Amino acid sequence: MHELSIVLNIVEMVEKEAQKAGAQAISVVELDIGKLSTIEPAAFDFAWKHGIRDSVLEQSELKINYISGKGRCNECQHQFEIEALYDPCPECGSYFSTITEGEELRIKSIRIEEKLTT
Ligand SMILES: [Zn+2]
Repeated sequence: MHELSIVLNIVEMVEKEAQKAGAQAISVVELDIGKLSTIEPAAFDFAWKHGIRDSVLEQSELKINYISGKGRCNECQHQFEIEALYDPCPECGSYFSTITEGEELRIKSIRIEEKLTT
């Protein structure tokens, strides 16, 4: 399950940011996940719950923006929305296209818990 390693990666990055900011905890973390990325939402959800244990993210709220896929046809250069990998071009029916959006996975924002816990 590669989702867990992705989650652990995110946790690591967020912990570094939290440390720099001197934060004890993160209240909200917002992610952009492309619909064409290999992430399975249910598996990601499961991995998230396990991956954030004992981290600064343990009490945080997770927000995910799913980014629609977009591609450009290699034959006729038409740009179109891609629902699934290997969708044919709606103009010419070609299966050869270049994905331009929808494969990303990034941390969009992090909100730091401002209450000081002693
Ligand atoms: Zn085309």
